[in-house]
Amino acid sequence: MADVAIMECRSYDDDEVKNAVEKGFALLGGAGKFVGAGEKILLKPNLLVAEKPEKCVTTHPSVFRAVVEVMLSTGAELSYGDSPAFGGMAKAARKAGLAEIALELKVKAADFKNGKEIFFEQGVQNRKFVIAEGALECDGIISLPKLKTHALERLTGSIKNQFGCVPGVLKGEFHVKLPDAHQFGRMLVDLNNYLKPRLYVMDGVLAMEGNGPRGGKPRAMNVILISSDPVALDATVCRLVGLNPEYVPTIKYGCESGAGVYIEEEIRLLGDDIKPLKCNTFDIRKKPIRSFQPGRKGLRGVINDQLVSKPRIVAELCNGCATCVSMCPVQPRALSQKGEDKEAPPVYDYNECIRCYCCQEVCPEGAIELSKPLLRRVLGLFNR
Ligand code: SF4
Ligand code: SF4
Repeated sequence: MADVAIMECRSYDDDEVKNAVEKGFALLGGAGKFVGAGEKILLKPNLLVAEKPEKCVTTHPSVFRAVVEVMLSTGAELSYGDSPAFGGMAKAARKAGLAEIALELKVKAADFKNGKEIFFEQGVQNRKFVIAEGALECDGIISLPKLKTHALERLTGSIKNQFGCVPGVLKGEFHVKLPDAHQFGRMLVDLNNYLKPRLYVMDGVLAMEGNGPRGGKPRAMNVILISSDPVALDATVCRLVGLNPEYVPTIKYGCESGAGVYIEEEIRLLGDDIKPLKCNTFDIRKKPIRSFQPGRKGLRGVINDQLVSKPRIVAELCNGCATCVSMCPVQPRALSQKGEDKEAPPVYDYNECIRCYCCQEVCPEGAIELSKPLLRRVLGLFNR
C-alpha cells in the first residue's frame, strides 16, 4: 500500500497553506521520518519559465515557504533549484516569488547551471544523463511539483518534475532522441528513479488546465497532496481530474519500474475526503496517447501524420517574439520566421516537426494550440 495525504486548501494564504502542509507531514509520520538533522536537502520546485505566481505556471511561493519552514524544523540544511526551459534560474525564481523567501529563510540557490554525466545501470529507456550539480551534491530531494496539464505527457506531475534537474538546453536533446511520448515517459521514469526524491509535495491549490504547461488557464482545485510514492500521487491527481491514470505514460511505466503503484485499491488516502475535491470538468485530454514515428514514409507515414496533433499558431495571439523558434530542438528547425516582417507569426514545416510540443510549452502568449488532424477527428481515438 502507498500512502497519499490529501489536504483541502482553498487559498494561498500563508497560514492556510502551512496548516495543510503540516497536516500532510503529520499524517505521513512527521517530517523527521524523511529528513534528518544536518542533512543537505534540495527542494525542487517547478520553475518552468519566469512567470508571476498568478499565472499558475510555477510552484506557488506560499507552498515553497510552508515546506521550507517544515524542513527547517528538522535541522536540515536546505537548498533549492530548477533549470527552466529557457532563461536562468535566478530570474525565474525572482519572478515566481521564491527567491525572496529563500533569501529571508536562508535557503541557498543550488547550482543548476553546471552538470555532470552519470550512468544509471537500471535505466530502461535511458542510462546516461547529465544532471545539475545542485541535484547531485545533496543528500536527498524533496520535489515540489505543480498540478498542470502537459501537451506531450498529459500531466506535469511528480515524476516529470525532475526533468528540470537536466540543465538548460540539454533537455531539448531528449525530445529529438525520444520524440515518442511513451519513450519520453520511460526516460522520465528512469531519471526519477535515479534521483529518487524522498517526498513529493504537490501544489494543486490553483492548477493549470487546457493548454498547459504554460499557456493554459488557472483552475481552482483547492488541494495539496503529499506522498513518498510519485506514481500513487500522480494517479490520485488523475482521479481528481477524471483522467484514467493508465493513459499517463509516467504513471504506467513508473509502476512497471517499481517506482510506485496506481491501482486504487493499493493507495491509502489520508486526510480529507477526495470526493468533494474531484472535478470532472477539468480541461485535460482524456484519451490514450498515440505514438508518433517522425519521418515515416509511404501510406503509414500519411496515416501517422493524420493521427497525431499538430502544433498551430493562433495569429491573433502571437506577438512575434520567436521564443518558439529558438526552442525547437530539431535541425533544421521545424518552424521559422519567413519574410521581412519579424513580428509575423512563425511558419511550421510539418515534415521536420517531431511533435515534441516544446514550442507550445514555452509560448508566453498561449498562442500555440494543438490541432487535431481530420482523420483523428473522424476516428476520435487518440489524444496526442
Ligand atoms: S512563442 Fe508564441 S508569441 Fe512568440 S512567436 Fe512563437 S507563437 Fe508567437
Ligand atoms: S515545431 Fe514545435 S513540436 Fe515541432 S519539433 Fe519544433 S518544437 Fe517540437
